[in-house]
Amino acid sequence: MVSRVIPVEDFDLVIFGATGDLAKRKILPGLFRRYVAGQITDNCRIIGAARSQMDDNGFRAEATQAIAEFTKTPADDPQLAGFLKLLSYVPIDAKGTEGWAVLKERMRSGVVRAFYFSVAPSLFGDIAERLADNGIADANSRIVVEKPFGRDLATAKALNATLARHFHEGQIYRIDHYLGKETVQNLMAVRFANILFEPLWNAQYVDHVQITVAETVGIGGRGGYYDQSGAMRDMVQNHMMQLLCLTAMEPPYHFDPDAVRDEKLKVIRALEPVGVDDIVRGQYRARGDEPDYLTDAENPDSRTESYVALKVLISNWRWQGTPFYLRTGKKLRARTSEIAVVFREPPHSIFDDDEGQRPNELVIRLQPNEGMNLKVMIKEPGPGGMRLVQVPLDMSFAEALGPEGADMPDAYERLIMDVIRGNQTLFMRGDEVEAAWAWTDPIIAAWENGKDRPEGYDAGSSGPEEALRLLHRDNRRWREIAA
Ligand code: NAP
Repeated sequence: MVSRVIPVEDFDLVIFGATGDLAKRKILPGLFRRYVAGQITDNCRIIGAARSQMDDNGFRAEATQAIAEFTKTPADDPQLAGFLKLLSYVPIDAKGTEGWAVLKERMRSGVVRAFYFSVAPSLFGDIAERLADNGIADANSRIVVEKPFGRDLATAKALNATLARHFHEGQIYRIDHYLGKETVQNLMAVRFANILFEPLWNAQYVDHVQITVAETVGIGGRGGYYDQSGAMRDMVQNHMMQLLCLTAMEPPYHFDPDAVRDEKLKVIRALEPVGVDDIVRGQYRARGDEPDYLTDAENPDSRTESYVALKVLISNWRWQGTPFYLRTGKKLRARTSEIAVVFREPPHSIFDDDEGQRPNELVIRLQPNEGMNLKVMIKEPGPGGMRLVQVPLDMSFAEALGPEGADMPDAYERLIMDVIRGNQTLFMRGDEVEAAWAWTDPIIAAWENGKDRPEGYDAGSSGPEEALRLLHRDNRRWREIAA
């Protein structure tokens, strides 16, 4: 029951940074899977570009290795042989002048042109400029821009301005791969294609919302990058903000890119500034042989947060007084990402034995097992009288859709296909990104200008004690962090 695969238009896709980690782990394996699914035809071309010197066959060999590793496809797979024929490679330095003429020569006319900037953000402007100056990108070309999109409002504005010199907004696809996740889109379907939830989706019936993105890994290996960023920039400003927007937004008039993004933007603009008492920062401590944050970051004085929890209020009619609690961190108890909408208790209980009474919860799980779960109260089965028990109503599509449901496309696959289709609904618009930074900047500035240090928390725990108190003082509690 998975939707029919309709091949996308023929395209030339150039991947800048084709030898990098993201290209190997996500982009090339994702494109291969779409080829196997029949969504990419033999008349499409994928051109790798990076500084490394190699020829087409060298790139095909690298792609074979990456696809073998990340899709478990044997190197002699006949479909892989077909896919490799689509690949070629052009050595290009984003800051140099060589290679651009060769790339121009390689591009065909009459097909969709897309350019994936899978390189460090400092190169986005150089590539945009050279694509335009060399006449490689036309008015219909699309560019895909990776995260991070700036590190504050000023840098995001500067980057938007640089890209805008060469491309109009309708050509710019700012990736947030959380938006490509099946359940995130399903959240919109559940809200706006059913009558059941939307009447209850407001402050009158929703007690609070919890959004959790918990990781078990530390920052080992990317300490330098992470220490310059921290959980607020790395997770809250982008991914968690997007989840909050999709949960809180008003129904768009149509499922259309600008209509959806207009509604998300209104949510961001309605966010109240977060007070110091409503935010908790943490840094993980050492566990056994595993080093603490400061050692991983190679910065003994670092005040960068590997954990953040905050209480967010939205100043509008729908959400007045309903807090959204957000938390994210490294080295936590389990790897899980979810949105939990916790409804209010019924106004009056008719049952004598209502001890088991719990509020209804709709849990939208993004990982590890994408799915949805509605917690409802029922009578405990058996002859023990009218006792109440809460049971989960599993709304996971994996089961409902049969074996194919468990094999949903990865977020990157879906998003790249949307680029080729020219659909920007699941990509962030420039004003959205800027509004998110405008809200985040004062929080980060207060930390940077203050002297406080993040609170330590045990690796493998649920985060700092203070984060528990953030909810306790509101007579609420966090959901358990569990895989
Ligand atoms: P990476 O492994 O460091 O790869 C960088 C790529 O850029 C390499 O292919 C490198 O190849 C190429 N490159 C570097 N300098 C260049 C230049 N002057 N001209 C042309 N190509 C150049 O980085 P990555 O992890 O793949 O990340 C790429 C982008 O995706 C970054 O913006 C990152 O923030 C974002 N991102 C990555 C992940 C992830 O999981 N990796 C997740 C989210 C976002 P040569 O050295 O051969 O030039």
